[in-house]
Amino acid sequence: MKVLVLGAGVVGVTTAYYLWRDGHEVTVLDRQAGPGFETSFGNAGGLCPSFAGPWAAPGMVSKVLKMSLQGDSPIRFSLKPEIRKLQWLRLWLANCNTESFRVNKLRMQKVAHYSMACLKDLVDSTALTGFDFHADGVLQLFRTAAELEMGHASARALAEFGVPWRMLDAAGLNLVEPALAHSTVGVAGALHLPLDASGDSHRFVLSLGAWLEARGVSFLYNTAVEAIAHDAGAITGVRTAATAAGAGSLLQSDAYVVALGSYAPLMLAPLGIRLPIYPLKGYSITVPVTDEALAPRAAIMDEHNKVMISRLGNRIRAAGMAELTGYDLSLVPSRKDLLVRVVREIFPRGLDFDQVSFWAGLRPMTPDGPPILGKTRWPNLFLNSGHGSNGWTQACGTSRIVADVVSGKSPDIDIEGLTAGRFGAG
Ligand SMILES: Cc1cc2nc3c(=O)[nH]c(=O)nc-3n(C[C@H](O)[C@H](O)[C@H](O)COP(=O)(O)OP(=O)(O)OC[C@H]3O[C@@H](n4cnc5c(N)ncnc54)[C@H](O)[C@@H]3O)c2cc1C
Repeated sequence: MKVLVLGAGVVGVTTAYYLWRDGHEVTVLDRQAGPGFETSFGNAGGLCPSFAGPWAAPGMVSKVLKMSLQGDSPIRFSLKPEIRKLQWLRLWLANCNTESFRVNKLRMQKVAHYSMACLKDLVDSTALTGFDFHADGVLQLFRTAAELEMGHASARALAEFGVPWRMLDAAGLNLVEPALAHSTVGVAGALHLPLDASGDSHRFVLSLGAWLEARGVSFLYNTAVEAIAHDAGAITGVRTAATAAGAGSLLQSDAYVVALGSYAPLMLAPLGIRLPIYPLKGYSITVPVTDEALAPRAAIMDEHNKVMISRLGNRIRAAGMAELTGYDLSLVPSRKDLLVRVVREIFPRGLDFDQVSFWAGLRPMTPDGPPILGKTRWPNLFLNSGHGSNGWTQACGTSRIVADVVSGKSPDIDIEGLTAGRFGAG
């Protein structure tokens, strides 16, 4: 079967891989000049199934309100009234309770752990390298006694979900991450999550895209989707926008998979599919390593500032913040300053803070947490969107699932609660 994948982020490219593996004739299109140039470009690099969980949680409303009053709050809202944002917030609020959190967390954990197994299998099958993969676990760092106490509570919850962990004191921490010895802030302890890993998702899609291209998958870059065309019963093609090189065209296929990240709802609304995916803006910095012995070697989540710091080869990446400001991608200098300050406090040496690259991206967030996968009301249109803050972690698993659905096979894991049906959409 001919399958057209819309979007060449980490989700679109991994979807192409599994469809190709199932024997389909696959084409991937993207408006950018190559794969992974939007949200999959500069994320924190965390492959963290142990963390996977919804942002809609009991107690989150007061936490968010308290945080947003801080001077350099990691959370910001634009006060501009916007129907989609208000609808998303309404659904998010409805999920901030114990039972919804438990159900959504279980769904996300299931997908994320499955995804890590799929990623390892993909790497073994393709011998893919060059994406700074580091599979030695992730540290969740607690600066204060109160944070450490919260860490013990979250460790108990991890045990409930069957996720392994060990709590490290300062001495144990120095063995895992010697660079912390130079930290200018106190560290009360850390949770070591051995199943988690890190890697550069942009380098991953570059490598996987080239690997697939060499095996016959077609990639159409600089090709923007303008609309998805249909007749009464099915999708009939994808209309592409005109470029300086020529007029747009109608690309036709047997099946279509939408992997457009935060832009999926805009493309699907004219088809009557109303997905509650909102772009949640975040920022990252990338800093070159200058001294191997002094630079961090592990991936670390700084719980105090909700900033993730990953070692990606000869660089470190630090990312965080959440802004509900629509599709705005402007780079706000104070956000860069905050990220630099956080990294410098923990790792003051071994990094070149004069050569910092700054980036912003849009997490395609669903209000309840899990992504939106599988069938739609159109028999030849499928979804692989809404991966939120876990898209790199979940991409291989969700793409394996969606390729199975496209191929008419039963996915390895139950997808109840992972389809558009849970929102009455699709
Ligand atoms: C600050 C930050 C930190 C993060 N940290 C992590 C992390 O540590 N771990 C983790 O697992 N996840 C993390 N994420 C989330 C992760 O990056 C995303 O979930 C993931 O990249 C989403 O992938 P995607 O392929 O769905 O979207 P994208 O990568 O955005 O891909 C969508 C593609 O669709 C294309 N497109 C859109 N509209 C059109 C159109 N009209 N025509 C043609 N092409 C179009 C775009 O060009 C783009 O390439 C983070 C995100 C941010 C912002």
